[in-house]
Amino acid sequence: MTEQLQQQARKLLDDQEVNLIIGYGEGSARAVRAVFVRSPEETEKLILDERCTANLAVYLNKKEIRALGKPAIVARPSVQRSIVQLAVENQLANGDITVIGIDDDGTLTLFSDLDKLGEHVLAQAPLRGDSPIASSGSRSASSEASSSGEASSSPESSASTESPHSPESPHSPEMDEERVRKLSSLPMEERFAFWMSEFAECLKCYACRAACPLCYCERCTVDCNQPQWVSVPAHPLGNLEWHVMRAMHLAGRCTECGACYDACPVDIPLHLLTQKMHDNMEEAFGTSSGEKKDKPVFPLNSFRPDDKEDFFR
Ligand code: SF4
Ligand code: SF4
Repeated sequence: MTEQLQQQARKLLDDQEVNLIIGYGEGSARAVRAVFVRSPEETEKLILDERCTANLAVYLNKKEIRALGKPAIVARPSVQRSIVQLAVENQLANGDITVIGIDDDGTLTLFSDLDKLGEHVLAQAPLRGDSPIASSGSRSASSEASSSGEASSSPESSASTESPHSPESPHSPEMDEERVRKLSSLPMEERFAFWMSEFAECLKCYACRAACPLCYCERCTVDCNQPQWVSVPAHPLGNLEWHVMRAMHLAGRCTECGACYDACPVDIPLHLLTQKMHDNMEEAFGTSSGEKKDKPVFPLNSFRPDDKEDFFR
């Protein structure tokens, strides 16, 4: 898989279709880190295995990255959904990026048309994180739009490392689903007690915010001090304010990648809160994040004249 990715990345750079590749590379102590590959020779740094779970879409809105030119980005399914959501929110347009899509079965597909990527995402499994990349069986490479992406097949085992998204991990899609279901079944008082106890651990380090591709405001409300909406120290009320504000800002927009949870140094499962908010929005308004629709509707910033509530008329 890594070899196939490196070949594709090299071709994109050789053909000058993009200026850099945003992908995964080896870090220290068997950790994986983001790498920004800018020459064909550097494509050897790219890796792809089950440790590659960070949501790289978080880099697409960074000024420093945009200044490097047009990127191609390695995108597992949850990253693909985030990219589509960014396009729906007018943060990305066709031509801005090339997506090197890697599906759970290991299929590699190039997308330069974000509408096509949206159709691809819609045809895939529903939300709730990524499954481990298939480690055996046939894989194929295809190109949706780029003439440079001839189909090829390269069945190759990925590195045998334990995935943080493996079924044994506290962060597999199946476990997330089950935890959201269990939490939802609790009486309101118990749910509130659960979240207050979790939020009590919060250090207000904002690593969750930094890891989330949908938290892209140049100036976050928590950083404003005139007026100061959210108090700075980590105390029960300030922590509650921060987490309620974060959940509301992501309501119906979260693409359920779990990157916020992975980033949290004290393991607060805050992705379950935004996942639950997503479910509520879907149930109430029939909307889902990470899906390109003809007319995207964002329930929290739009209204219909025939809305059953009349408080804002
Ligand atoms: S809130 Fe968490 S799970 Fe949702 S898109 Fe952001 S990082 Fe991913
Ligand atoms: S990463 Fe964890 S500790 Fe840091 S602000 Fe987010 S929830 Fe709080």
